Amino acid sequence: MEKLVAHNSIKVAAVTDHDTVEGLSVTQKLASAYPDILIIPGVEISTAEGDLLILGTEETPPKTWTVESVIDFARDNACVSVVAHPYREYGMGDLARNYKVDAIEVLNGESSQQANKLAQDLAKSMGLPGLAGSDAHAPSEVLTVYTEVQAGLDVDEILKALRKGLVSVHSTARSIHF
Ligand SMILES: [Zn+2]
Repeated sequence: MEKLVAHNSIKVAAVTDHDTVEGLSVTQKLASAYPDILIIPGVEISTAEGDLLILGTEETPPKTWTVESVIDFARDNACVSVVAHPYREYGMGDLARNYKVDAIEVLNGESSQQANKLAQDLAKSMGLPGLAGSDAHAPSEVLTVYTEVQAGLDVDEILKALRKGLVSVHSTARSIHF
């Protein structure tokens, strides 16, 4: 949170813990003190075929978590489904081509340059927007990469823009992966 407060342009962060939304309310509470900071609620779901991010949910989807059921949940709840780090461990890889996801994570702060390049190719060939995610598991890892979104400071507006591909991905200078 301090990093978002201190940063002069990055003011929106998605919180996507693995398979749980328990950390969400405390983060939203912290953020509520700052009118220019917005938290996008979400979760990263582990499926047998790889990790899927859901942006815009404050709940986990009902189990059992298959790729289809997670994508259906996202669609039915006006969320955005994103294939996380497709060419890394727990990534879906080429299997992503079989599913109607909304976007591909093409710039992951913890993935190799090569894995990110493959992910960019995947998004391009599927005609899907590419998003950046820091995949931060520690405060030092946030803001390594970011997605610039053409939208106002509003969760629904941002989700719509993500779906439309009104985005560009960037890495900050200290990221070594891109
Ligand atoms: Zn993951």
